[in-house]
Amino acid sequence: MHRVNPFETAKKQLDQAAKIADFDPKYIERLKVPDRYVEVSIPVVMDNGEQKIFTGFRSQHNNARGPYKGGTRFFEEVNLDEIRALSFWMSFKNAVVNIPFGGGKGGIIFDPKKVSPAELERITRGYVQKIFHLIGPEVDSPGPDVGAGSQVMDWIMDEYSKLSGKKQFAASTGKSLDQGGSEGREEATGYGGGVILREVLSKNLIQPIKKTIAIQGFGNVGTFLAKSVHELGWRIVALSDSKGGVFNDQGIDLEQAAQHKKATGSLKDLAGTRNITNEELLELDVDILVPAALENVLTAENANRIKAQMIFEMANGPTTPEADEIFNQKKKIIIPDILANSGGVATSYYEWYQNMHQEKWPVDEVLSKLHTLMVQAFNDVFAVQQKYQTSFRNAAYILGAERIINTIKNKGV
Ligand code: NAD
Repeated sequence: MHRVNPFETAKKQLDQAAKIADFDPKYIERLKVPDRYVEVSIPVVMDNGEQKIFTGFRSQHNNARGPYKGGTRFFEEVNLDEIRALSFWMSFKNAVVNIPFGGGKGGIIFDPKKVSPAELERITRGYVQKIFHLIGPEVDSPGPDVGAGSQVMDWIMDEYSKLSGKKQFAASTGKSLDQGGSEGREEATGYGGGVILREVLSKNLIQPIKKTIAIQGFGNVGTFLAKSVHELGWRIVALSDSKGGVFNDQGIDLEQAAQHKKATGSLKDLAGTRNITNEELLELDVDILVPAALENVLTAENANRIKAQMIFEMANGPTTPEADEIFNQKKKIIIPDILANSGGVATSYYEWYQNMHQEKWPVDEVLSKLHTLMVQAFNDVFAVQQKYQTSFRNAAYILGAERIINTIKNKGV
């Protein structure tokens, strides 16, 4: 992964949009700094009886529009700048999709695959104990992200409930169904991306040659986005995970790929495909490229070799500002993360709402509400894009910033 500071990227993106829309600099300066961020030490007794100290973070970027909200990343290379950037993107994402949340994000430096389930539980509960006084259903409700799925969210909710002395299902989102999770949350980010992709394609912004897509990352987001793409009648010719990618010009069978990954732990050597590297996947001659793994994968170094006409950002922050500039010069269409992957947090909002009101919605109701919300978000961004004749990224930032700034203005500084 390239060492670009994602927090600097986030600030540059906002500056660029602010120039176009001529926002009052005093609000832009305010949005460039998170309201608060903490680093905590989490001492944990490991299974062998020895103590290990883990480092965790939580960044609360802005809560003008509602409680801080954002995921939790368990990853051995996570750092404070990444968490601050991710919290910043959450504020804008939540504003773009127009849900009543601000932006937050958290994480712990470790590889969850290298600890036992019991250790994972102790690390998670220890983290909640350290940030307990800063979070809560109406203050900041953590959600899932890379390395932290529904089991982790269940523990966060449970530990928070124990510490506060009452059951509080809305203390986290992305939980399992019997712990207050929402129907539809698991597939939400990929499903929401599919809705946006369909809307984008309906505007005929690109001229697809073979209707082919390459997807980097075959985790939660990549898997469900792939299903949506398949339903749109497009061909997924390449898929990858952290161990590498696979390619088949005729298309990859998703069911077979999922089974192979489950059985062997990676996509490598999937029958009927040839192995490729993650770098090769990004540079394939496809109509649409979907980064759906980690940030900073499209950089000044490889941007000139990217052949896809459209980059559809399902990962958070996959494109550095330098690569963005190159893509814009080459008239590539970039659908930014804060629009493309906002279906996840939108459904987290539905989960939070159901928890707060003790309701349980069926999956059709959740996905139908999500569909309407995503179409609206796309139309709102598209209107700004048309008004300013600018990139979709700038348009999404302008829309998000406008909504946050209006709230700050109206309530007073
Ligand atoms: P995940 O842990 O389920 O999957 C991540 C995938 O990326 C895995 O297939 C993993 O093998 C792969 N990967 C890891 N390192 C890689 C590397 N160096 N090169 C290529 N592939 C690599 O995570 P996820 O929830 O699918 O999240 C993926 C991205 O989407 C992240 O950027 C995350 O912030 C973003 N996102 C997730 C959600 C959500 O609801 N899960 C919502 C919005 C955005």
